[in-house]
Amino acid sequence: MSNSAIPFPQSPVVPSLVEGNHVIQFQCRKGIDCWNACCSNIDISLTPYDVVRLKRRLGLTSTEFLRDYTVPYEMDKDDIASVKFRPVDGGTACRFMTPEGCSVYADRPTACRYYPVALLSMRKQDESVDKDSYALVKEEHCHGHAEPVKMSIDDYRKQQGLPEYDDLARGWRQLVLKKKSSGPSIGKPSLRSRQLFFMACYDIDVFREFVGSESFTSVFDLPPEEKESFKDDVVLLQFAFRFLKQVLFGEQTLPLKEEAAQARREQLKAKRSEEEREAAARLLREEEGPTSAADEGFD
Ligand code: SF4
Ligand code: SF4
Repeated sequence: MSNSAIPFPQSPVVPSLVEGNHVIQFQCRKGIDCWNACCSNIDISLTPYDVVRLKRRLGLTSTEFLRDYTVPYEMDKDDIASVKFRPVDGGTACRFMTPEGCSVYADRPTACRYYPVALLSMRKQDESVDKDSYALVKEEHCHGHAEPVKMSIDDYRKQQGLPEYDDLARGWRQLVLKKKSSGPSIGKPSLRSRQLFFMACYDIDVFREFVGSESFTSVFDLPPEEKESFKDDVVLLQFAFRFLKQVLFGEQTLPLKEEAAQARREQLKAKRSEEEREAAARLLREEEGPTSAADEGFD
């Protein structure tokens, strides 16, 4: 990929993409003269798994965590909502920063773990597999790049516990990439779809109530043991990604109750007829040839 494809040319992201075997020189350690500089001025987006880890750590419901610690933002203009950390009131520092360091270190978000590496997941138009590449972030305030420790990005990811974080957020990344790569062909999702996306990805405790509701169980046919497993936030989150594939992209990822399945078959039949009607009309127009100005009555 050429450098011109790097999304933020003016940012501190070094404009070259590298693979996991690329060796970086970096170490963050207590006692370094820039200690906490990175956490004093934050812009940290959260994955759904980050939210689950942090809300559990703080003993909050997802709704309480989102209300007290995050702000929503649009990841993909007008289409996909996500959340960022809300900094301290009237400042730019992270609410979890202490003089000793991060007070939620064992549950710190993906972005904090990756720093100073940026993960760039990409999917080319019409491709079904996404590819992970990395870029290095070099900011003046961070002196970790001058430390004499070298390791590959793969090893750095392991050291930071990132394989687990990436695995458990993969379904969400795939949804985001699929939405972006499908571009205008899939159209703007309805307000209802966007609300469902936000609830299922971030407000997991409300999603759990939704999955247990009459409106959900009258449509989806899930075995009792699967419903039982939804007590676990992480299991429910993986189910949420499957559910969204069906709701947003029409993929058949969940079994439907017979009545709902029949309604869906009729819906698909109606859609196919509409597409056939449109194709026939297009063909007719092409056979008739371009309409000239004279045909339209203009001389
Ligand atoms: S969560 Fe921890 S590591 Fe991340 S910005 Fe806040 S204090 Fe820093
Ligand atoms: S070395 Fe970089 S990541 Fe570590 S405390 Fe300093 S600014 Fe933050």
